[in-house]
Amino acid sequence: MAFELLRSGKHKTPLKPKPMEEMPHTQLGTDYKTWCDSHKGTHKWRNIRWPVLIFMNLLFVVSFVFDLAILEGSLSGSRLIGFYLMDPFNALQELAITSTTGYIVHLTMNFWIGLFTILIFWFLLGGRSYCSWMCPYHFLAELAEKLHNYLVKTKKIKEHAFHTGLRFVFWFGFIILALVTQQLVFENLNVVGIVSRAMIYGPGLLLFWVFGILLFEIVYSKRFWCRYVCPIGTTWSFVGKLSPLTIKFELDKCGYCRDCQIVCLVPHELWFVQRGKATQEVHYTGSDCTRCGLCIDTCAGNALSYTIKGWGTVL
Ligand code: SF4
Ligand code: SF4
Repeated sequence: MAFELLRSGKHKTPLKPKPMEEMPHTQLGTDYKTWCDSHKGTHKWRNIRWPVLIFMNLLFVVSFVFDLAILEGSLSGSRLIGFYLMDPFNALQELAITSTTGYIVHLTMNFWIGLFTILIFWFLLGGRSYCSWMCPYHFLAELAEKLHNYLVKTKKIKEHAFHTGLRFVFWFGFIILALVTQQLVFENLNVVGIVSRAMIYGPGLLLFWVFGILLFEIVYSKRFWCRYVCPIGTTWSFVGKLSPLTIKFELDKCGYCRDCQIVCLVPHELWFVQRGKATQEVHYTGSDCTRCGLCIDTCAGNALSYTIKGWGTVL
């Protein structure tokens, strides 16, 4: 049973697509377009997620400005009410460096506690849920994406996609760079840390790098950093591989419109929504899913929902 829940079902034989009389719009007695449009403009989860993200990031700022020991540091490494938290990719780079210098035995207990606490926390919440619920760059990129989509829709630019495997090249590349240079090279390019520190301690020249990436995403490739580069997101997707909290898809409620895939940062995780692709009545999104809830908001048939695997729908 547990093993079955972890499998995506991608390699099974697809089920037959539903006939017209079983389509959700037919059962409701409405036409297809009216049915598809019925959830347009619904932003329930986004309207919960954005305030959570902004609140958590402002907590860093407020703690610094008013010298409160609530959430100190930045997203690269912090203390929550005195309790250490460590970004796992930052920790991996440090482990790579200290393992070659012999200093690994000198890493403090706080390092290990901070690392394992955050790993367990985000594992329980879905791994890459860190991206959509916590990362300040995600917030900026989500806004930039709207501009990008407008430019594509009005045919001013074309979309350029890359192979999603590219992020593994960057992930290994930054680990190897840390090993070779004995420096946290990625931290100089890490848009998450740059934005987080700029909010807390004030803007610096490195913000131009962030604006450059955002501009590239607007005019050339949608969500380029999060989709193809960010090793933090990749690390969280490893963590979320076995996470219990995920998105459940119910085939009988799906109308094959694929609106959910259009709004999704990682559309490959919703492969089963295409007509004739689902192999099971119920599918779960995989580890790249950021648990952002955009697909839930957009689905006219309520075919998608937050779930704890094996427990049924939770929200
Ligand atoms: S992939 Fe990286 S930049 Fe994008 S949301 Fe996740 S942590 Fe933030
Ligand atoms: S599958 Fe849904 S929850 Fe997951 S990233 Fe895509 S839109 Fe967000």
